[in-house]
Amino acid sequence: MADLPSQWTHEPHHILQFRAGDKIADIDTDSSPGYTGDKDGSAEVQAERNERFAGLQEMLYANGKAGDSRSLLLVLQGMDTAGKGSIVKHVVGAGNPQGIQYTSFGVPTEEERAHHYLWRIRKALPAAGHIGVFDRSHYEDVLVVRVHELVPREVWEPRYDEINAFEEELVDSGTIVVKCAMFVSLDEQKRRLAERLDRPDRYWKYNPGDLDERKLWPAYQEAYQAVLDRTSTDHAPWFVIPCDKKWYTRLAINELLIEALKSMKLAWPPPGFDVEAEKKKLAQS
Ligand code: AMP
Ligand code: MG
Repeated sequence: MADLPSQWTHEPHHILQFRAGDKIADIDTDSSPGYTGDKDGSAEVQAERNERFAGLQEMLYANGKAGDSRSLLLVLQGMDTAGKGSIVKHVVGAGNPQGIQYTSFGVPTEEERAHHYLWRIRKALPAAGHIGVFDRSHYEDVLVVRVHELVPREVWEPRYDEINAFEEELVDSGTIVVKCAMFVSLDEQKRRLAERLDRPDRYWKYNPGDLDERKLWPAYQEAYQAVLDRTSTDHAPWFVIPCDKKWYTRLAINELLIEALKSMKLAWPPPGFDVEAEKKKLAQS
C-alpha cells in the first residue's frame, strides 16, 4: 500500500473487483468503498494521482517506442450520465495524448453492421505502448442489443463466451484489460439529465432517446448482471464502480489504471546509443 494515498483503507482493485454471487441490486451507488476521504480534499489527491498516472503512461509509451509490444485497454461501460466522459477528460486526459487511443462506440454504422460485431472493436485495439480507451464497447452487443432484442437470443447468447475468448487472446498477446462497470442510481441520473437540460454548454450531451432507456432500467440491470456474472474472468475481471459521487469515480478508476500500469513493472528503456559519445559529439557540433 506504499504508493497509495492514505485515505484508501483498501486497495481499489481488491475492494472493487466483482466477485461471483455479487448482485447489482446491492450496490450502493452513492458509496465510496475503501476511501475514507470526502469531496473536500479529493481534488488535491486527484491532482497528485493524475501526475502519477501520467508518469507511468509516458513510461509505457517510451517502452512501446523501444520495442515493448504491451499495451493497456480501459473499458468504460455504464448507463448514460454514469461518468464515462468525465473519466476520459479528468483521468485519462492527464496523460500524453500521443499514447492514448480513444474510441467511443455508438449505434453501429451500416458498414459496421455488415461485419461481425467484434470487427470495429479489433480495429480500435491499442497499439504497442498505448492506452486504449473504450467509451462503451463490445459489451453493448450483449446490453442494448439484448434489452432491445436487436437480434434474437440465439445470436446474443453465445456472445458472452465469445467475448471471454476474445479477451483472453488479447491478454495473452500482451494487453492488460481493465473493465469498469459504472453504476449510477436512477435518481442521480435524473439529476444529471436535468442539469444537461439546464445548461446550454451541456445540451450536446443530451439525447432525447436517453429517457426511453430510463424506462428500461430493470431490463438493463438484468443485462448488466449477466455481463458481470458471465464475463468477469481471471484474465479480465470486472471492477464495479459506484458513480453517484463523481470525485470518487475519478479517484477509483485512476487508481485502477495506476495499479494496472505498475503490474507491468515498467522502467525507462535504456538508450539505444552511447550517451557519453553523443554528448561529446553534440558539444563539438
Ligand atoms: P452515447 O455513448 O451517449 O453517445 O450513446 C451511444 C449510443 O449508441 C447508446 O445509446 C448505445 O446504447 C448505442 N450503441 C452502442 N453500441 C451499440 C450497438 N452495438 N448496437 C446498438 N446500439 C449501440
Ligand atoms: Mg448519451
